[in-house]
Amino acid sequence: MGIPCYDTHGFTPWEDHEPARGGPEPLDLLQRASGIQGKRMAATKLALKVDVDTLVGLREGVPNLLDLFRKFGIQASFFVAFGPDNSGKAIRRVLKKGFLWKMWRTNALRTYGFKTLLYGTLLPSPLIGEGLPVLIREIAAEGHEVGIHGYDHVKWHDRLDALSIPEIEGEIQKSIAAYKEILGRKPLSSAAPGWRCNLKSLAVQDKYGFLYCSDTRGRRPFIPRIGKQIFRALQIPTTLPTMDEALGLGGVTAKNFNAHLLTQLVEDRLNIYTLHAEMEGMSRKGLFEDFLERSRKIGIEYVRLWDEAEALLRGERGIIPIDDIYQRPIMGRVGMVGYQG
Ligand SMILES: [Zn+2]
Repeated sequence: MGIPCYDTHGFTPWEDHEPARGGPEPLDLLQRASGIQGKRMAATKLALKVDVDTLVGLREGVPNLLDLFRKFGIQASFFVAFGPDNSGKAIRRVLKKGFLWKMWRTNALRTYGFKTLLYGTLLPSPLIGEGLPVLIREIAAEGHEVGIHGYDHVKWHDRLDALSIPEIEGEIQKSIAAYKEILGRKPLSSAAPGWRCNLKSLAVQDKYGFLYCSDTRGRRPFIPRIGKQIFRALQIPTTLPTMDEALGLGGVTAKNFNAHLLTQLVEDRLNIYTLHAEMEGMSRKGLFEDFLERSRKIGIEYVRLWDEAEALLRGERGIIPIDDIYQRPIMGRVGMVGYQG
């Protein structure tokens, strides 16, 4: 994400629990969380989707996350932006409602560092995945999944709807080429920067035969449809709020975030939490480690997304539904995201 994922996604952890919809208040959820932590949850599966949007995230956040995952015996799914780090260009979002508030709320300077916030404007744009192949190989060597997360993350995130089909295809092709060069095989999975997807991007992705894509927010894996067009690639959405969306809103603080997140895990379902190498791997590493400790105590089962995708496609999880994708804003983020209908 550069600042990419940072300012545009949005989903509020408690939005599906608003009293108007018949759910408990956020504070009730926090109270329930303390109860959950004392129990052992059965058959609760959680996939960790790690977005790597910036050079600093790959260079410093990823090694920290690899250490943590080794310590806890977890295998995760990493999605890396392979092209230029243009995080500084995200400043264009300054005119969008909520951008400055979010920068302050999530302490962007501490999270990304001063240099990253200037890449692509006052400083040249260094290459992310393509520039650090050793780390990409290290992620894969430790048994984690590696997928693509766009080429120029900021460009996709901020301008997807304005890009032509050849331009979108160019982004995907460059990312696939870099991946192949580094890992010697083609990527099986793709996750759109900022959960930004549309008719054109899904059609282009279908040409490349991904095992699955993860471009949306939602509640369960599905075959995507927009209007009358049904796409081939399985879609696995992020089901949980991200840390940068939740912190500082609705009474959620660093102290109660982990309890809050645990309340939202659903038994007998594939839960997907997207974390960012720049946050959970750097500025909020301690908080994330605490989450892993707590989840281990209650017996959460960690899975990789590509294993789940294979099981789904083999029919081991029942019929895969066809669901619509539409665009909507979600709380805690600026702009629209692709959302499961
Ligand atoms: Zn991202």
